[in-house]
Amino acid sequence: MTYQNYSLKQLQQIDAAHHLHPFTDHKELRAAGSRVITHARGPYIYDSEGFELLDGMAGLWCVNVGYGREELAEAAYEQMKELPYYNSFFKCSTPTPVLLAKKLAEIAPPSVNQVFFGSSGSEANDTALRLVRHYWALEGKPEKNRIISRRNAYHGSTVAGTSLGGMEAMHKQLGGAVPNIVHVMMPYAYELALPGESDHEFGLRAARAVEEAILEAGADKVAAFIGEPIMGAGGVKIPPMSYWPEVERICRKYDVLLMLDEVITGYGRTGEWFAAQTFEVTPDTMTTAKALTSGYQPLSALLVGDRIAATLTEKGGEFAHGYTYSGHPVACAVALKNLEIIEREGLVERVKTDTGPYFAQALRERVAGHGLVGETRSVGLMGAIEIVKDKATRERFEGDGRAAVVVRDHAIENGVMMRATGDTMILSPPLIWTRETIDLACERIVRALDLAEADLR
Ligand code: PLP
Repeated sequence: MTYQNYSLKQLQQIDAAHHLHPFTDHKELRAAGSRVITHARGPYIYDSEGFELLDGMAGLWCVNVGYGREELAEAAYEQMKELPYYNSFFKCSTPTPVLLAKKLAEIAPPSVNQVFFGSSGSEANDTALRLVRHYWALEGKPEKNRIISRRNAYHGSTVAGTSLGGMEAMHKQLGGAVPNIVHVMMPYAYELALPGESDHEFGLRAARAVEEAILEAGADKVAAFIGEPIMGAGGVKIPPMSYWPEVERICRKYDVLLMLDEVITGYGRTGEWFAAQTFEVTPDTMTTAKALTSGYQPLSALLVGDRIAATLTEKGGEFAHGYTYSGHPVACAVALKNLEIIEREGLVERVKTDTGPYFAQALRERVAGHGLVGETRSVGLMGAIEIVKDKATRERFEGDGRAAVVVRDHAIENGVMMRATGDTMILSPPLIWTRETIDLACERIVRALDLAEADLR
């Protein structure tokens, strides 16, 4: 590999001179220099200095089968030799997206059987927004086009993704969002439940915020509600079990479509193929990406329910939307092989019955008691550690997220890659983590918390 001719210092200098990074303060990056990750194996990533880190984030919530899977490289190589690219416009197809769409229909909820491919989660959410508005126009109700989302939601970084999302800092830089999208409260009991309110009651109240937004606009003006089953980038906010069934009941009552963004939760993360199955809801659209290929190729799949698909096929008319790389043959070949690996190794079942419950218990018994930790929470292999100054009062440290960054930096120094979002530490490891890997991660996290506590108090 040619990078080996460069020293770390040189790579950092070239990086600073030429490479703009996502979600990065470039002044800070230039001062600090980037950490250059050069290779990875199984659950571990390695930087240019050979330092080994347990990857607690599966890359960016995506490398579910872990690193170094030769089968995936071979699938890409074989497909590149056979047919590296052809489009799926103009009534053309290539074999791998066809077979992948069939496979996805098999593992999705029963009434979800059609797939539209893109290259990223953001693109898939653009498609979803376009599709639900197109659906209502085909149904003769073009004015039924408002989308209800949630504050602090993350639906990607394109203009449509940012507009659908509820991140204030992103909205500020947008200079004009896609019109007719509104945001309601998130279902996050730890911060928003009233004194004495049970989780169950809170979940119902948070769902009622969706109903209020529908009534405020008038149901004949509302196209859809969109939500991540578990808010990921917003801090692994896990809703009470009462929330999703109530949201679904409300959507059905007012004939509002239900859009789930499963970009993080799809493909085994929650211990089911999709979180729709974990929370027992039936969506009209499901946005998926990331772990569809375990990040080995960029690919997204918008899964579309029978109701929308029937209107598209019965009413006809061009859906004037698509991407050069919709149904990319190589990305789809890798996805097929990736899903085969997940199935063959029983990774979804393992998360559900073994590593998921063990992870929850380990966080609860070994991490939650720490003086800096307000609560731990998890579903499957997706977890969060809430950093607080005072456990009893839930008071936060000053500096808006500064404390979690201190913990994160110690975690990295101690060999576990984690992410800090606000005051929340996030874990979303590869699904190949075993009980032993979880033990090792917890040991390192507790050490990082001890060191951070010494810094912060
Ligand atoms: N939706 C959710 C829930 C996400 O977490 C993300 C990315 O993290 C996206 C959409 C956007 O996906 P991408 O970064 O592939 O565009």
